[in-house]
Amino acid sequence: MEEKYIGILTSGGDASGMNAAIRAVTRSAIFNGYRVKGIYRGYEGLIADDIKELTTEDVSNIIQRGGTILKTARSQQFTTPEGRKRAYEVMQQENISALVIIGGDGSLTGARIFAEEYDVVCIGLPGTIDNDLYGTDFTIGYDTALNTIVQCVDKIRDTATSHDRLFFVEVMGRDAGFLAQYSAIASGAEAAIIPEDRTDADQLETFINRGFRKTKNSSIVIVSESPKDGGAMHYAQRVEKEYPDYDVRVSILGHLQRGGSPSASYRILASRLGDGAVQALMAGQRNVMVGIHDNEVVYIPFTEAIKDDKPLDKSLIRILNELSI
Ligand code: ATP
Repeated sequence: MEEKYIGILTSGGDASGMNAAIRAVTRSAIFNGYRVKGIYRGYEGLIADDIKELTTEDVSNIIQRGGTILKTARSQQFTTPEGRKRAYEVMQQENISALVIIGGDGSLTGARIFAEEYDVVCIGLPGTIDNDLYGTDFTIGYDTALNTIVQCVDKIRDTATSHDRLFFVEVMGRDAGFLAQYSAIASGAEAAIIPEDRTDADQLETFINRGFRKTKNSSIVIVSESPKDGGAMHYAQRVEKEYPDYDVRVSILGHLQRGGSPSASYRILASRLGDGAVQALMAGQRNVMVGIHDNEVVYIPFTEAIKDDKPLDKSLIRILNELSI
């Protein structure tokens, strides 16, 4: 009988810890008698048949490395029925009987649609710095990005204090405020402007009126990047216009939030999830995301994982307000 393979790919934005997950899936699969093929550049590489078998040696010395050795991409073609048809044909040619997809909500949405159209087994792993997938407490890459942000804000604080400045620091997260809210608490920032708490104008007005600068000689407001409201620059421009007394600066942390070596606990998380993907396959699961909840590995149907906004713990908003007086 022809040998069947597990195919593995990383998709969407890269996240630190993806390599640790690739290593775990590959080694756990081989340990359990499967063979593995690495698919390069996400769905784009699946469609283009950019695929190579992975051995245990191929995933040596990567657990500590940021980024993804399989590379990643955003694939316009995979969003079309023709693209997915081609992806299915390539899976047949390559004898790939199951796909492990490491990515964020877009990647898992693609996997859900693909599995509805074709008789394919897909297992997802939450790989995104945004921590916005439902049903898992944490996503691969989140903690490392959070720590990077906090280190940057500590440095910005030095200059903000020296010049008596108000800094708006923009962090990633798209429509999710996890990175902004948690980094604000961890860095002792005065406020976080996050999508989950959007009352618009007046997140900013509330902070200014609270007079947080009266007792402090610097202020840092973390702003979640958001396509909807223009991010940190928008708030800084508003302050310049509406509160000209403030000496305002903006720092957009950008892509440095994605890079770097995964933290120890997130290497363990990625290892558990990667092994969990293979356990899921062996248990006959399909079209689920492997997550971690209350320190247990869990399987969450794709439809659940991507269903809508993962709720942020609202008590954190209160805690940040209390602790930044
Ligand atoms: P991150 O959270 O880091 O942004 P992501 O997985 O959410 O990661 P996206 O760019 O949203 O990143 O999605 C990655 C890829 O998944 C897309 O480029 C596309 O190929 C596929 N994808 C996303 N949405 C769909 C969809 N509705 N149908 C088919 N494929 C999709």
